[in-house]
Amino acid sequence: MNEYFIYPGIGKIVLVSKNVFYKELQDKLVKLESEELKLIDRLFNNYSEFLLSKFLMDLLDSNSKLAKFNNDTFRYMLEFIEDLIPEKYRDTFYENLKTLEIESGIEYVPLNEEESKNKLNMGGYCINYNRLVIYKHTIDGLTEYAKSCENPDEVFGREINRLFFHELLHMASSSFDKETGVITSGFGDSVSLMNRGLTEGFTELLSMISIPGTLEINSFYYPFILLSKQLVYLVGMDVMMKSYFGTHDTRLIEKELNKIENNEGFSFGLLSNIESSFMIKENLGDVKQTFMGSAQNLMVYYFEQKMIKAIEERSISKKEVEELITDFENSLIAPEILSLNKLNSENYVGIDKSLNAFRSSKEYILSLLNEAQLKG
Ligand SMILES: [Zn+2]
Repeated sequence: MNEYFIYPGIGKIVLVSKNVFYKELQDKLVKLESEELKLIDRLFNNYSEFLLSKFLMDLLDSNSKLAKFNNDTFRYMLEFIEDLIPEKYRDTFYENLKTLEIESGIEYVPLNEEESKNKLNMGGYCINYNRLVIYKHTIDGLTEYAKSCENPDEVFGREINRLFFHELLHMASSSFDKETGVITSGFGDSVSLMNRGLTEGFTELLSMISIPGTLEINSFYYPFILLSKQLVYLVGMDVMMKSYFGTHDTRLIEKELNKIENNEGFSFGLLSNIESSFMIKENLGDVKQTFMGSAQNLMVYYFEQKMIKAIEERSISKKEVEELITDFENSLIAPEILSLNKLNSENYVGIDKSLNAFRSSKEYILSLLNEAQLKG
């Protein structure tokens, strides 16, 4: 039997001889169209140069400070990011790329003794200097960690790329106004609200989607990856992308939430709970707090309302409802997940309550679904 795989949208792709793929159509093997061939090629040579648009390549060449990073992997990441950004919001990315500086492997000097006792900063993107930094201790730490794995080189490569990707996403979604001193980044700005929790969670979510196989559970931001994922199910990826790369606030997100339930107190509450939860964890560490649980509880509430509405309006199929329930359920923060993320699950008051709320919601939605007898 031949090896094969399913390419979503094309169908069954069969390997007929070395590097030659055909597709199966009504039990017959037929040649792929040239557009399809390109897609398959991209799968197996996804670091190759032809992916990079001429425009991006010229930009990269024009910035001499990036010469030593101008390799296949780096170009692949840039291309991927360019594709992610809604077209009308790409200027920030192009502008920043022209002058971006990268420093990798430099020694981190703690600001004071207090800081040196805590977990050191891994690196980051300095918005006002347009500089991306990955510290030496981070690279050393990753090397050590990779050594404990079966395939150290692969693990190291993947994790370091994820780190770079995360910071490059900040670069693509941040700007600094020299005149006013205002910083804009992801879902916020330094004048109104930074929304750092959502920004970090979503940045990490995007970098994990882009570099598959990375260990999400090890992420320092894991609970916030999950919260931003839940939000994606409520308001849609489109709204998240426009807010993150374009408007740099949460107005569009709130507008979508208010469509589900017209209550500004709720939508505002949800976003400020995420932020408070993040800032407490970031600044105080793993201490007792209710914000994470409350944020998730509100997410569950919105999810239930959204499903009820969709079923009532018959704007969704049975299968879609069932899939959404599973996807949403898989993105919930649970005590076991907090423990795997090396947090004390007892510190996150209200997480259990939100999980119970989800279980009742699920039952209720499924009962509505049975009554409604939606098609498919
Ligand atoms: Zn970050």
